Amino acid sequence: MEELLPILHKYWGYESFRPLQAEAMRAVVAGRDSVVVMPTGGGKSLCFQAPALHMPGIALVVSPLIALMKDQVDALRLAGAPAACVNSTQTASERREIAAAVKNGQLKLLYLSPEKLMTERTLEFLQSLDISLIAIDEAHCISDWGHDFRPEYRMLHALKEKFPNVGVHAYTATATEQVRLDIAKQLKLHDPELLVGSFDRPNLIYRVQRIHDQWAQVREILARHRDKSGIIYCIRRADVDSLTATMQQAGYSALPYHAGLSDQDRTKNQEAFLTDRAKIIVATVAFGMGIDKSDVRFVIHTGAPKGLEHYQQESGRAGRDGLESECTLLYSQRDFATWKHFQRELSGPALEVANRVLAGIERFCISLDCRRRAILDYFGEDYTAESCQACDVCLSELEMVSDPLILAQKILSCVIRLEQMYGAEYTALVLHGSSEERIVDKGHNKLSTYGLLKDQPKKQIRDWIEQLVGQGHLRKDGEYGVLQITPTGRKILRGELTPKLLKAAKQRKASAAAVASWTGVDRGLFEELRQWRKGVADEKCLPPFVIFSDATLRDLARWRPTAMENLAQISGLGEKKLIEYGAPLKKLIKRYCDDNRLDANVKAGDVVLESAAPPPTPQGGSMAKQQAWKLFEQNKTLEEVAGIINRATSTTQNYLCEFILAHGITDASVWMEPAIFEQIREAAQRLGTDKLSPIHNEFQGAITFDQIRIALACLRNEMPSAS
Ligand code: ADP
Ligand code: MG
Ligand code: ZN
Repeated sequence: MEELLPILHKYWGYESFRPLQAEAMRAVVAGRDSVVVMPTGGGKSLCFQAPALHMPGIALVVSPLIALMKDQVDALRLAGAPAACVNSTQTASERREIAAAVKNGQLKLLYLSPEKLMTERTLEFLQSLDISLIAIDEAHCISDWGHDFRPEYRMLHALKEKFPNVGVHAYTATATEQVRLDIAKQLKLHDPELLVGSFDRPNLIYRVQRIHDQWAQVREILARHRDKSGIIYCIRRADVDSLTATMQQAGYSALPYHAGLSDQDRTKNQEAFLTDRAKIIVATVAFGMGIDKSDVRFVIHTGAPKGLEHYQQESGRAGRDGLESECTLLYSQRDFATWKHFQRELSGPALEVANRVLAGIERFCISLDCRRRAILDYFGEDYTAESCQACDVCLSELEMVSDPLILAQKILSCVIRLEQMYGAEYTALVLHGSSEERIVDKGHNKLSTYGLLKDQPKKQIRDWIEQLVGQGHLRKDGEYGVLQITPTGRKILRGELTPKLLKAAKQRKASAAAVASWTGVDRGLFEELRQWRKGVADEKCLPPFVIFSDATLRDLARWRPTAMENLAQISGLGEKKLIEYGAPLKKLIKRYCDDNRLDANVKAGDVVLESAAPPPTPQGGSMAKQQAWKLFEQNKTLEEVAGIINRATSTTQNYLCEFILAHGITDASVWMEPAIFEQIREAAQRLGTDKLSPIHNEFQGAITFDQIRIALACLRNEMPSAS
């Protein structure tokens, strides 16, 4: 496939193939039918676009959504590739123009909806032309085994018959074997080449949390992604509406999307999201199919998804550009009951499948094993690495209780003392030793288990109860969710079984992918480039990600090229974009570097790119610093570490700030109360971050210089919000 590399370089400014791309392109050039399964963001479009530009004739591309076609055609044109789409929103004269261009051989790619392609007239017209290849994007839509079945796709049955000498190629991110086989069968492909890529998405970090305070948990995630695009999934439409309202009130740029809105509102909100006018879309699973927005930095589920395959699809909409992105699944035990309720009309084998799928996602939520391994397992892939370095389990964010058996026994005994007649909230109150009237009235303050966990916050006790329910040691019964001991719960009471119990989550670390993709990047310049891109996009009425991906902007902010030959080396800057945007980019970067006394045209040796695997260690640091970093990793406080390494707090404090910056840590809660952090953030926004003393004076000494330094280091890791 060497002959296609110049095309990759010319149009996209890419240097090499992604995994399986070369194989997929070989099948296309050879004219052999193929089915290509690659995860979202794997780079499927290039598999047919690059060969289409290379081969004689015109390529036909079938795509299910107008928005999707439009984005791809716009991106191709910006790169200098002659492409067009035919759809129902065009006028007759527009269509005639396209037909003329097709006839004159001026186009290399033509995008069509399946129903448009399969009309008698279109087929007749196209059959008289030299067709290079036929690509079916989102090909799982043809199978009713999948979850996005589109009846129009069924018309594609007849394709092979109408174009017997043209290779037909199906592309999808849907993994199950059943769907793959069905695609080949429905399209009547001849001995197709089957290419299945790995489903690992190393740039995604996975976290799973039980819900204790949904809004607080969501806000904590949003704080890490200020001014960035994200999707929040809710199970019900009503949840979408109420969460959107809450978010809007709190000043977030969020819009709703669900099947209850008018077509017009849905399209409007989707457009606003794609063009960055709205940063966040709050949606049911109705949203997302074929959304190619590449800079989605986070996906939050505020309830359990329907199954692990759905979760892979939905969370997979984050980080298509290959940059680090966060997927958090917030769930409560109730969600599984809700899904069961939705599926109550099913029966027979369909119900069995639905129940099995639901049990799978429930296990995933409750399990305390590597999230990535669990997902890949589900798709039949072996994940052999010991730690993925990018999930809450592998990053050791989940801290186990040191003696879970005794703790569980205390809780279960209390349930027994309450004669299995009270709910989780009440039981937690009794264990906490609350003096609420109802408890005293019933004499439950006299129970032997009253106040047994009085040194623990009530919220924590409540969470442990939910964990025991989740693991099946307790059961919630009836309308009031009365707690009852299950057979495995009895085993725990007899000491025959030890459950796993988690403490509340503490520090959040950056994944290895995040550290690597930010190495050497000047965040201020990255932000300026983003704003410049937004201006260009608005002028052209295009989504910003169609102009340049975030990955390209980070490369620009890392290497800071101000000479043409250096600009040409940036991945994502092909020939046409170089001509169009080279000059303004050079100017912007030069001005920024001058203003900030930064080196331009950084050489490769000057930035050491971290490889994805090991977490960063201090570069050339002393033994004391090495030791300090290890201790910080274990969540030790500043004073503790200073004591252990036997250094002054000020020295240790310097190590800590370097540690925070190197790990991209944005959460200071290990070192100070969140309220103090927020106060410093607020003051820093007002007073600036150049000097510490104005902030220190502001609080009249109530907040220490150490705290301010630590907080500022965390704030530096958050992107400065675009002003
Ligand atoms: P998919 O359709 O598989 O979800 P896309 O085709 O939309 O993925 O590609 C995802 C992103 O990866 C796009 O921004 C694309 O330009 C980029 N990309 C694709 N192939 C390469 C490559 N060989 N090198 C660098 N970036 C690539
Ligand atoms: Mg695609
Ligand atoms: Zn993991």
